[in-house]
Amino acid sequence: MLQPDIYDIVTKLRCRMLAFVPVVLASLVTAAAGASAAERLDSLQLLGREIAAGTSVKFPFIPDRSFEASYLNTPVFVARGLTPGPTLCLTAGVHGDELNGVEVARRAFAQTDPEELRGTLIALPAINAAGVRTGTRYMSDRRDLNRTFPGREGGSVGSLIAHSITTNVLIHCDALVDLHTASNQRTNLPQIRADISDPAIRELAIHFGLGIVVAGSGPDGSLRREAANAGIPAIIYEAGEPFRFQLDEIERGVQGVENVMAYLGMTEQVERKVPDSRIYERSRWIRAARGQGGFFFPTADLGDVVQSGDMLGTIVDPFTDASFEVIAPLAGEIIGMAVPQPVLSGYALFHIAWHASD
Ligand SMILES: [Zn+2]
Repeated sequence: MLQPDIYDIVTKLRCRMLAFVPVVLASLVTAAAGASAAERLDSLQLLGREIAAGTSVKFPFIPDRSFEASYLNTPVFVARGLTPGPTLCLTAGVHGDELNGVEVARRAFAQTDPEELRGTLIALPAINAAGVRTGTRYMSDRRDLNRTFPGREGGSVGSLIAHSITTNVLIHCDALVDLHTASNQRTNLPQIRADISDPAIRELAIHFGLGIVVAGSGPDGSLRREAANAGIPAIIYEAGEPFRFQLDEIERGVQGVENVMAYLGMTEQVERKVPDSRIYERSRWIRAARGQGGFFFPTADLGDVVQSGDMLGTIVDPFTDASFEVIAPLAGEIIGMAVPQPVLSGYALFHIAWHASD
């Protein structure tokens, strides 16, 4: 949980946003006619700066100049619209090696015109900036930043960063999209992860427009979960592999952010037709069986819908040439998988999702 005062603030913000969306959607036509002085948005005070309506800025997040604070030299992008509207926050690079999301945030911000925008877009495209530069998932103190939110004063470096971001930036967010990829040596089908038991989060997830939503509230200490706990509707876009830029996954992410901005009434853009979402309430990893390590060669692929008993790949023991089949123990869609590589017993090979009613 956040500190009580922060929790109160973001809870109020969220209430404001939930009330705001239908109002904004209903007033698109009048707003399009041009902003009167009364409708003009105030400037935003953020991290010691004043960002005027109708402008966009990029600056480093530097809470102070001390040695201890130098680790937080992460970029902050802000586009402040001319007319009132919600504040959407994009976060990426929480895991420094997950580059697709970093580029989604950069492109989505670059194409946002503050003079056309309603409300505010805040992007933290490389929260773990050192990790993005060096291709490292974790913080410089080897902590996982995505397990340290909301952070606390007096904590580890990761916890300090999380606390600083929570108290300085997240308090402004009415909705949040956190951008990720699969972890090392794995790849994910583009998907939204969201706590669909919360109606506002469910709507945000569906309106991203990918067509695949995997239910779950995320681990304790993750940015998305703790933001949601604080009352900010938050979802994750997961797509592709770490360490590389994958253009299809990046383009789909940018399109999803555009859809969310249209849904929130932040842009003139007509929201793309929202596809029927496959909402999966359950998922689990299929692992290499005990004693069946070796070289993994998948035959199934991301997006395949498999039945119980289907063969998904083989593992060959290079010492004995014994070959083991990887068999689906249940039916579902493959939403994540390991790439071909040497694997040991218990290694997670295929992530399968299915409907609770199946
Ligand atoms: Zn991640």
